[in-house]
Amino acid sequence: METIFLDEIRIEELEVYAYHGVYPEENEKGQPFFVNLRLFTHTGEAGWRDELTLSTDYGEVCRFVTEWMQGHVFRLIEAVAEQLARALLLRYPLVEELELEIRKPEAPIGLPFGSVAVRIRRGWHTAYLSVGSNMGDRRKYIEDALRALRGEEHTRVQAVSELIVTAPYGGVEQEDFLNGAVGIRTLLTPTELLDWLHTVEAAAGRERSVRWGPRTLDLDILFYDRLVYEDERLILPHADLENRFFVLKPLSEIAPNLRHPLLGRTVEQLLAAVGDEA
Ligand code: ATP
Ligand code: MG
Ligand code: MG
Repeated sequence: METIFLDEIRIEELEVYAYHGVYPEENEKGQPFFVNLRLFTHTGEAGWRDELTLSTDYGEVCRFVTEWMQGHVFRLIEAVAEQLARALLLRYPLVEELELEIRKPEAPIGLPFGSVAVRIRRGWHTAYLSVGSNMGDRRKYIEDALRALRGEEHTRVQAVSELIVTAPYGGVEQEDFLNGAVGIRTLLTPTELLDWLHTVEAAAGRERSVRWGPRTLDLDILFYDRLVYEDERLILPHADLENRFFVLKPLSEIAPNLRHPLLGRTVEQLLAAVGDEA
């Protein structure tokens, strides 16, 4: 609920002398950079209680940004912005989203200009995954996958469903499945998340031979925020989830009221519509 109403803590024109640049001279001599930062967060609790530990300390953020920018050397301000944004989001847990501008008014352009800057917006995303296995030690494959997820530095596992045994789907004769659902918060983009899930599947010896055939581990992205998206590699929400008991049942345990952005129905309602096939 509260993520709908985000408050803002703003830091303007923090000046940091640092060494980022494409030219060796920039890396040696350095130059001033200016940072503008908007932290989208929750200040209500700190506001009512007048208590700093319930908020994000902007003084401490300024020191962190300064030390971070002086402790790294990048060629591009794009790189400074991208990597600093991630470092900030990982360090300050109350910040859900941020906007970061890195300005470089003395960039060596050789023409009269006011300033150059890069501004990006980044934040935490909520995603739901399905996990499934029907080969070998199914429980171990799934537990290993959960351990890998917990170890992914840009991801926080929020909820894990019970694992249920289900009959295979798609008409291929094979062993029963063990299936579950996982809720995460992540800084990864949808494609980064998909690539990362593929590396976890590969580590479990997953081979793609028969579609819907036996597999050591299948990790699919069911939802990524309320994103509706489709390209050759990724469809969101997952294209067939509304027809799958083995997806909806575990998902309903951790996110019953999550509403499908295209179908307009909640997970619980979708589950009721496919019926109880257990
Ligand atoms: P299904 O997607 O019907 O559950 P599957 O999981 O067995 O089938 P895979 O072999 O795991 O299929 O994946 C085939 C391709 O599906 C992947 O390489 C991936 O690019 C693509 N894909 C599209 N949308 C998604 C998604 N939401 N989550 C995971 N993979 C997806
Ligand atoms: Mg699948
Ligand atoms: Mg898959």
